[in-house]
Amino acid sequence: MSKILILSRDLNINKDLIGLLSGVGYEAISVETEKEAIKAAGEFSPDIAIIDTSIVDINIVSTCRSLKLQNETNDIQIVLLTSKDSDSQEVLVGADGYITKPFNENILIATVNAHLRIKKLLDILYTNNSELAKSLYQLNVLYNTSSQLAGTLDKTKLINIMNTGLDKSLNSSLCHALVMNEPQDATLIINSMYPITEALEEALKLRAMLSYKSLFENNKLPFELSIGDITVEKHIKEQDGLFDLNILNWDCMFSAISTADKFFGTVEIIRKNEFSGEDSTCFQTVVKQVSLPLESALLYEEIQKTNIKLEKLEKLKSEFISIVSHELRTPLTSIKNSLEMMLSGRMGEITNIQDNFLNLAKRNVDRLAGIINDLLDLSKIEAGKMEYRFEPLNILEPVKFVMSTFENLADKKHIQLFINSSKDEFNIYGDSNRIEQILTNLVSNAIKFTPNNGKVAVNIEKTNADSIDTTLFFNDSSLIDSNGELNFGQDYVKITIEDTGIGIKTEDIPKVFDKFQQIESSLSREVGGTGLGLPIAMQLIEAHKGKIWLESEFEKGSKFSFIIPLFQDTRLLTNHKK
Ligand code: ADP
Repeated sequence: MSKILILSRDLNINKDLIGLLSGVGYEAISVETEKEAIKAAGEFSPDIAIIDTSIVDINIVSTCRSLKLQNETNDIQIVLLTSKDSDSQEVLVGADGYITKPFNENILIATVNAHLRIKKLLDILYTNNSELAKSLYQLNVLYNTSSQLAGTLDKTKLINIMNTGLDKSLNSSLCHALVMNEPQDATLIINSMYPITEALEEALKLRAMLSYKSLFENNKLPFELSIGDITVEKHIKEQDGLFDLNILNWDCMFSAISTADKFFGTVEIIRKNEFSGEDSTCFQTVVKQVSLPLESALLYEEIQKTNIKLEKLEKLKSEFISIVSHELRTPLTSIKNSLEMMLSGRMGEITNIQDNFLNLAKRNVDRLAGIINDLLDLSKIEAGKMEYRFEPLNILEPVKFVMSTFENLADKKHIQLFINSSKDEFNIYGDSNRIEQILTNLVSNAIKFTPNNGKVAVNIEKTNADSIDTTLFFNDSSLIDSNGELNFGQDYVKITIEDTGIGIKTEDIPKVFDKFQQIESSLSREVGGTGLGLPIAMQLIEAHKGKIWLESEFEKGSKFSFIIPLFQDTRLLTNHKK
């Protein structure tokens, strides 16, 4: 029923108005002082206050202002009962409407009705506004929660972000999430406004476990669980209060935290005020939001575990190779020395046949030593234990030296060797022994895989990062400088080892830098090898901040190119001496 408060000292007016308004079904009361009016406005909660402006000892302006300024009364429609000539502008401004005295009954009822309609519309507007404000707030919390969730792969952190999001958006008193870790291992994370009694903690554990089991009814549980398997983690907001078992009678919402094929746990929130339909939607949205990142977190955890296992295996393998190689090297050296002694004739005359067999044995011992050295080198590089002695050096010197060591072998196969260099000096910052090792591996392959009467050339030229086709790189296609940044504009020396050999089919090109890879061909079967030369060369080149790549045409020849940054400060250059 609509309520009307009348402030007047004119008994006739009071009587007339009450009679008139009650007659049309409204509840009306009258008061005589400002104090009573303010009090009645709070307690009686009228829709309209009709104020008689002719009361002399009342300050109408301040009465209107008092009503309009207080939260509980500011929506009351104030209608002044004014006498035409006496009211000032100031008085009139403070009100929502006017009725002039002496009033016409019909006009008065019509005016009251009009203000009741306004009041009703304003009420609807306020309610909608506050719901809109609540929805906006919830949306904001949802947005913040989802951006926080996207930034982490830690399971406990994700659940805590979810709990905080629920707490903020739904104003919950208590929120508890049961998170499954492993079978028979779960954590109950409780976010509570106040500390909780021991009995409540136990009850929450039981409640979470039973709710979890009820989700699967007769089906198999994803995780076996009994109450003793649950550890509790509590986050308490304020200390000056206590929650006991009573809060279990309050309103609550419960949900599973899961995706279509993964189950992570359960969550329940509790508060005194009833949850609305929108609250339920908001709750489901927050819980759904956390499921996907939880799935990623789980995958990440699995990947990390596998990585740790792989790292351990890789370490074991390197250690094994390094121990075995060491153990093999010592006896091999003594075999080699003994063979050399016998071959030298110092141990007595040897026949031609003995000489042949001893030479065969020595060649194979040398090969075995080479393989063991390669294995040792690779395991050292991979374990990060390879030591480098970097110094400024002119790369032409190791090129010339390595080519000279292959002259005999090339002669035997009637292979012509060339060095083509656009300058006499290409200074790099490198380890000369390792540069020789890289060149030896590449040139020996070039000679090995080139039939008799072919050609092997080493071309040396200056190049620049901007003019290199990085898509050809075997490893990732980036050039990185010493600060770990992309190296635009850097000058490099480019060395190309080009042969007229058997070539490599396009589909085999990506394989040649892999460990123990040998491309099947009659020649490779004939010449043998370990498949370690190129991976070692690649790793050594990358240790010099360089890159290697290969271009080849099957049955025509191959071109292995590598680049190493040019060293700019020539003052530091020392002669590279063999
Ligand atoms: P290895 O030569 O000891 O077998 P590498 O790692 O040096 O091992 O080379 C791997 C494989 O790449 C070789 O077995 C061969 O099949 C192929 N290869 C390397 N260099 C050449 C080349 N210049 N011409 C043709 N094939 C080559």
